[in-house]
Amino acid sequence: PTTQIVPDAKKKTLVILGSGWGSISLLKKLDTTQYNVVLISPRNYFLFTPLLPSAPTGTVEHRSIIEPVHGIIRQKKGVVKYYEAEATAVDNVNKKVTLKSVNTPEEVEMTLDYDYIVMGVGAQTSTFGIPGVAENACFLKEIDDSKKLRQQLMDRIETAAFVSAEERKNLLHMVVVGGGPTGVEFAAELQDFVDDDLKRSCPEIAKDIRVTLVEALPNVLSSFSKQLVDYTQNSFATANIQLLTKTMVKNVTKDTIKAERSLEDGSKETFEIPYGLLVWATGNAVRPVTRSLMTNIEAQKQSRRGLIVNDFLVVEGAEGIWALGDCSATKFAPTAQVAAQEGAYLANLFNQMGRAHEIEDDITALQLKSESAQDSNTRKTIASEIESKTRKLRRAQTILPFEYTHQGSLAYIGSERAVADLSLWGNATPWAGSMTYWFWMSAYVSMCFNTRNRILVCFDWVKTKVFGRDISRE
Ligand code: FAD
Ligand code: NAD
Repeated sequence: PTTQIVPDAKKKTLVILGSGWGSISLLKKLDTTQYNVVLISPRNYFLFTPLLPSAPTGTVEHRSIIEPVHGIIRQKKGVVKYYEAEATAVDNVNKKVTLKSVNTPEEVEMTLDYDYIVMGVGAQTSTFGIPGVAENACFLKEIDDSKKLRQQLMDRIETAAFVSAEERKNLLHMVVVGGGPTGVEFAAELQDFVDDDLKRSCPEIAKDIRVTLVEALPNVLSSFSKQLVDYTQNSFATANIQLLTKTMVKNVTKDTIKAERSLEDGSKETFEIPYGLLVWATGNAVRPVTRSLMTNIEAQKQSRRGLIVNDFLVVEGAEGIWALGDCSATKFAPTAQVAAQEGAYLANLFNQMGRAHEIEDDITALQLKSESAQDSNTRKTIASEIESKTRKLRRAQTILPFEYTHQGSLAYIGSERAVADLSLWGNATPWAGSMTYWFWMSAYVSMCFNTRNRILVCFDWVKTKVFGRDISRE
């Protein structure tokens, strides 16, 4: 069925897909009184992804890094209708979006009309179609991934008591594939968990746990400066995290990884890595709803990374569709920083468009009034009002292209150390070590969604420092 809830027929309907960094940043700054706003996301909360690698081991609690969308919506002046649903298709010709509920007792499918739609659906973890990954690996993108990862981690730890010494070594081999920031931060958190908590509470198990990070390129953290890459790799060596670089995973079974290593002489060797827990963090892949829209638009057919947008974030080859964040293909890295700035930019763009629409209506009303005015003085006054409104309209219609300001990159590398590539006065400034860890903490706390999240995260960190991480299954 086609259901259309239009609280105000005079207003345009703006549909926002997703409740992540891009879409929520847009919603926060959007003047919702100017549009009929509809928010569609399978996740009824915003997730602060920078602290997600700290969640499976319990350094921070899941609830501390999420914020419900209903709370965010309640603070808006205008009405925002929320659907806990997944958009399955966007019909760019007839301006319709199809959605499917995710948690209703019976699945509900419906189609909504839109005037404008913003694609903010993010990306999914890439598997590159490598056999066995989807079936055997854990990912680290959403809260559910973190919960599953925690569950599997505890399964391995508790199962270790039942198996032989040889099996135990393999079972307790935790392998992280992908040496980007996600893989590095999670490997670091895992080793902290072993060193700070498991060694104290269950030393006989902790002594057999090994953490390995596998990366296809010659180095981890390839987007960071060389100095910080070296620092991270040395720090991992000290912390006993095994690093396998120039190693590409080719195949995965339920207990073995088949990998290919590039040797100095240019040749390649294939070898097997037995494992107990596999965490897969090899970057982004396009989501099905984005892919389906891309196949509908001629100008998008060649794109592989996501929706191609122009400088105003308008999807090339379509009308009334914008894209931001990880589902778009731009010259910027797929980061929260970029998505949040794009969201704020689009909010401003829609606010300007809404204002322009209002002014146009005012001008039309004034023109009608002028036509029916009897005396020349009234007509003169109206004419000067129209002139002033026209100037305002021109200002509202002047929309500048999106510009990104890079503030730097940060990553936690374990043992209370972090690396930071900061952009200070236009120069890249690398920082590393314990002081950078304190900087990392304060930067992430300040970036948290609101004061509630800030307090909860700080409380979790203090709790971890004072009592250690909880090693119970829950
Ligand atoms: P997301 O934030 O992923 O949001 C996408 C939204 O779309 C979600 O609400 C999702 O539920 C929803 N959605 C999915 N499918 C559909 C559908 N079919 N219909 C409707 N809605 C849908 N970046 C940094 O800058 N700094 C960091 O420290 C950092 N740390 C990270 C740590 C981890 C573990 C990960 C995974 C990423 C990290 N990133 C970091 C990257 C950052 O999280 C992403 O670049 C950012 O989330 C992109 O924002 P987005 O709005 O495009 O997508
Ligand atoms: P990524 O794309 O940054 O890194 C993935 C890594 O996996 C690459 O180095 C790649 O060479 C490697 N890889 C791919 N296939 C492989 C294979 N078969 N075998 C072995 N290695 C393989 O991915 P990510 O770390 O998930 O990050 C995604 C985005 O999110 C990036 O833009 C990143 O900057 C951002 N992010 C930032 C932070 C931070 O700033 N602290 C944290 C997490 C994510």
